[in-house]
Amino acid sequence: MTDILDIERPVLETPGGAKKVLLHSCCAPCSGEVMEAMLASGIDYTIYFYNPNIHPEREYLLRKDENIRFAEKHNVPFVDADYDKDNWYARAKGMEWEPERGARCTMCFDMRFERTALYAHENGFPVITSSLGISRWKDMNQINGCGRRAAARYEGLTYWEYNWRKGGGSSRMIEISKREEFYQQEYCGCVYSLRDTNISRRERGREPIKLGVMYYGKDADGQGGK
Ligand code: SF4
Repeated sequence: MTDILDIERPVLETPGGAKKVLLHSCCAPCSGEVMEAMLASGIDYTIYFYNPNIHPEREYLLRKDENIRFAEKHNVPFVDADYDKDNWYARAKGMEWEPERGARCTMCFDMRFERTALYAHENGFPVITSSLGISRWKDMNQINGCGRRAAARYEGLTYWEYNWRKGGGSSRMIEISKREEFYQQEYCGCVYSLRDTNISRRERGREPIKLGVMYYGKDADGQGGK
């Protein structure tokens, strides 16, 4: 098995040389490369798992448990934040039919970054970042805007706007997911993305999504979830 230190990666420097980073993680496949890249550069970081958007709860637990398993493997501290989905639904009201990368997603990223920034502020982390932008399905400018806005709420807090896709990050994300046989989600996360993905699958004559069955490295496509 490849050791993370055997992989050629740029040496990362945190903004302002910060000694501690709070990494918001959306799931194990997206954060695997981000985590290993930071470990390879000797960065001290903690994972903050706050994703009340994920529906249903069974899917939420699957994604969270995969992330915990990988964090434990690398001895990385893991903060299991609230699953306050009622607040998420309250904020999503009226945006149920927004397309992916639209206003509902801005709200969803804002909400997750706001809590990450609050936790960082209360617990002495000068820098926050996120695995959200590594997925090819996401709009990085939209995510970075939300990250910057959340960090700006607290003096001395910086959003680390690193492009985790570059320098081979995107392909390593898939390699790590296969190596670890991570659970492979097939939709972004919320009930509306599940609905819309199933609508588009039906139009293409595909079966609806079955939760809990696809794993990287074990299933045929292995092309990366959402
Ligand atoms: S599609 Fe994804 S980013 Fe957009 S609101 Fe749903 S879970 Fe959040």
